[in-house]
Amino acid sequence: MGSTDVSTLRIGQKVWKNGGLIDWSDARVHVMTHAINYGSSVFEGIRAYHGKNGTNIFRLREHMLRLVHSAKIYRMPLTFTVDDFCKGAVDVVRASGLESCYLRPLVFRGLDEQKPAFGVNPFPNPIESYIAVWDWGKYLGAEALEAGVDVCVSSWTRITSNSLPAMAKAGANYMNSQLIKMEAILNGFAEGIALDDRGYVSEGSGENIFAVINGALFTPPLGASILPGITRDSVIQIARELGYVVHETSLQRSALYVADELFFTGTAAEITPIRSVDRIEIGNGKRGEITRILQEATLAVMHGERPAPEGANWLTKV
Ligand code: PMP
Repeated sequence: MGSTDVSTLRIGQKVWKNGGLIDWSDARVHVMTHAINYGSSVFEGIRAYHGKNGTNIFRLREHMLRLVHSAKIYRMPLTFTVDDFCKGAVDVVRASGLESCYLRPLVFRGLDEQKPAFGVNPFPNPIESYIAVWDWGKYLGAEALEAGVDVCVSSWTRITSNSLPAMAKAGANYMNSQLIKMEAILNGFAEGIALDDRGYVSEGSGENIFAVINGALFTPPLGASILPGITRDSVIQIARELGYVVHETSLQRSALYVADELFFTGTAAEITPIRSVDRIEIGNGKRGEITRILQEATLAVMHGERPAPEGANWLTKV
């Protein structure tokens, strides 16, 4: 959880559950729930920002579409559509008592207590859908957005897509992320970067990665076992609009060390500069100039202070 202190988190008053709103404290499951035993959940992470136009959810539809796709990959039949999930998100933020927040849509294989099933076979277990919200500060620390973070290349390989599809944002994938994150923290780093099974750069435990080399942007392609990040997509579009060339291409580990600038992208991490990798200083060890420009432009779009590229509508009013 980065450097966030859980005791200071403000939680939403309501949780959206299967189409209605319930109290936060009622959003509970049985210990024999399928997802707890076998990791059978898919989820999302979304942010709602408070700007001069009130509270808006950033790229809500794209997140809910990714949720529905994650469920489809795992053969989870949904009774809710993308539109239903979007409406649920607006309802739960409105009822939260929070001006800005992080949203956690979660779909999982539950437990039918009248007809319990405890095996690996997920088909007998009911599908449960929730959206919880809370006020989550800066994932890698507030100062990280300006000063940057020190990271390592992980000794753990990113999951391969023929074992656990990286395209699905599934709970089970985050066991791999936890190995990467714990190793990084215990060795004194803020985050770890995993290589894919071919040895090319994949991504952080919860963020995509970009390199700036000679004024152009480079980021690993979807084939590098990455989650197709929505912040990644936003940054690619904003960078191109600003006139930067963006390459989605395989990157060697050593390219990280000699890059002029590096940064992470993610809903939780937003755009976080990387100041060192494996104790090798990146650029001059400070946030790079192109990173700063992209950070400011992207945050401005998120806060409704700058239009999205090509007249797209990326904000949903709460
Ligand atoms: N990769 C992983 C493994 C993640 O968990 C996340 C956060 N959802 C990302 C990348 C970034 O994706 P997004 O920009 O859609 O939040």
